[in-house]
Amino acid sequence: MRLEECVLLQNQWFNDFCYESILRATNSVIFEYYPESGQEVVSDYVQELIAGDYNGRMLSAVMIEDGVIHPDDVSVSIEFRKKAKSGGSGEINLRLLTPNNEYHWFRMMLSQYSREGKTVVFGIFTDINDDMVKKRALNYHAEFDLVSGVYNKSAFLVKTTQKLMTESDKTHYILSLDIDRFKLINELYSMKDGDAVLRYFGSIISDLAQTGETYGHFGGDIFCMCLTRPEEEVIALIEELEKRINTYPIAFKFIISVGIARVDNYDGEAVDVLCDHAAMAQKIIKGSYINRWAFYDQSMTEALNREHEIITSMEKALVKEEYEMYLQPKFDLNEGKIIGAEALSRWNHSKFGLMMPGSYIPLFERNGFILRLDEYMWELACRLIRKWMDQGRSPVPISVNVSRVHLYDENLCDKLVNLVKRYEIPPHLLELEITESAYTDCPARLYEVIVTLQKVGFCFSMDDFGSGYSSLHALKDIPVNVIKIDLKFLQKGRLSDEIGRGILQGTIRMIQDINLPIVAEGVETAEQAELLRSTGCNCAQGYYYAKPMSIESFERLMWT
Ligand code: C2E
Ligand code: CA
Ligand code: CA
Repeated sequence: MRLEECVLLQNQWFNDFCYESILRATNSVIFEYYPESGQEVVSDYVQELIAGDYNGRMLSAVMIEDGVIHPDDVSVSIEFRKKAKSGGSGEINLRLLTPNNEYHWFRMMLSQYSREGKTVVFGIFTDINDDMVKKRALNYHAEFDLVSGVYNKSAFLVKTTQKLMTESDKTHYILSLDIDRFKLINELYSMKDGDAVLRYFGSIISDLAQTGETYGHFGGDIFCMCLTRPEEEVIALIEELEKRINTYPIAFKFIISVGIARVDNYDGEAVDVLCDHAAMAQKIIKGSYINRWAFYDQSMTEALNREHEIITSMEKALVKEEYEMYLQPKFDLNEGKIIGAEALSRWNHSKFGLMMPGSYIPLFERNGFILRLDEYMWELACRLIRKWMDQGRSPVPISVNVSRVHLYDENLCDKLVNLVKRYEIPPHLLELEITESAYTDCPARLYEVIVTLQKVGFCFSMDDFGSGYSSLHALKDIPVNVIKIDLKFLQKGRLSDEIGRGILQGTIRMIQDINLPIVAEGVETAEQAELLRSTGCNCAQGYYYAKPMSIESFERLMWT
């Protein structure tokens, strides 16, 4: 290149002091190229912003030959300059090496004008690195989860929607992946270790995904993927994922549970709804050591909707008096007379009709509403006893269920004492049934409650005895008044052989040894009743004698 071809500007307006100050303040250098003469001029402080030896050389040559342009940006820059030289104009962003040997983002703008009848290509390079870095960081934050390094939820939803829309004719699988007991890692190790596991998991997922498949981190230990491959390969991926996460170097057995929502002929359904479906299926198998994956089906949504309807109507049902108290008599096996009754709730739901406790009690125990229902049932029982007393009848004790959730209510004892006081009934007429497993859950609190209430005259039954594992232990330590043996002792087939009968008889004798009265639950046949009676169990409750019934039916049975 001849020296005179490239003139570092000295005397022209280019180097006007003010003009240069503005350019420097905006981190810009300018150049002009004169196509007719092939000459070029450039701001003489170009070396301060951009690497390269400019002395006597054309700008474009320096940039290419001195490796100033980032290798990934060389081809776009050549294309751009070609276009500009042939009369076009415009701008591009590209990375250029700076004198500090770092790449910075520059914006290159080119335009053409005519001066004194000659074409001039005018260009400007502006260092926009700070802005670009900030913008890229913002984009990264907006799209990527900083812990796991994969797409965050909103980016996953956007990318997956685009994918499903463009490939609507294919079958896809949306996976909701969860690391079981992940909290334990944070507790046993540290949050930092927990984050490292999530990052590792993210890297495995991105490694196993094929081009075009999407994946993201929904927060916590939940990840989602959208896979487009045959079903057996989806399952193979889950197995591989679990294998690989277990190579992570900590002493922890990783178990992955995965819910899968299959998408055929995508019709525009919101992807977060599909993810919810996958998550619903995943919750069903969470904690199972046998099943690692489950497919979503419509019945899960129906169950969830029903559960939702139950939750939204449970409070109003109290006001509308939809909960009813049914009574199931307890019989003295020798004399054949009623010696008490258990209060069992039924929900006369305005939409679903008469519902059995199995369809709402477990839910109420989870959401705490069982406290309200139990107290309502206790109140109904007290009201009924009061009514019988006012009618001059001699009432039998009514036993009510006390959910284990109630043991965490520090006002439990006061509530019960105040209740019987309010109705002016002797406390022993309101018998309290507490299920056996509560005796294992919180023995100290239970002991305190039982002893406090027994002092003022309440009686306690240990319900469902024999259904758990610590019955013998509990019997020794907890001062209950009555044992109700669980109906499973009498279930079909159990008493058909010597072993089953032996277990029942052994259990009854063991309770007799510590002098506690026994009520056998679930007596359905005359043979069962006879076996119980001959073993020394004197009291029973079961369909053989009477099913749970309305108050009117119970009163008829008792007094007519
Ligand atoms: P539970 O306290 O063990 O009540 C005995 C259950 O056995 C009742 O079921 C009763 O209907 C049933 N049963 C009685 N005799 C027989 C029989 O001969 N054969 C068979 N197969 N079953 C018999 P139910 O009424 O469905 O209540 C189920 C459970 O729901 C109750 O079990 C109790 O734990 C709970 N529950 C019901 N009402 C309430 C309530 O108001 N509060 C609380 N906390 N729990 C309640
Ligand atoms: Ca009970
Ligand atoms: Ca029971």
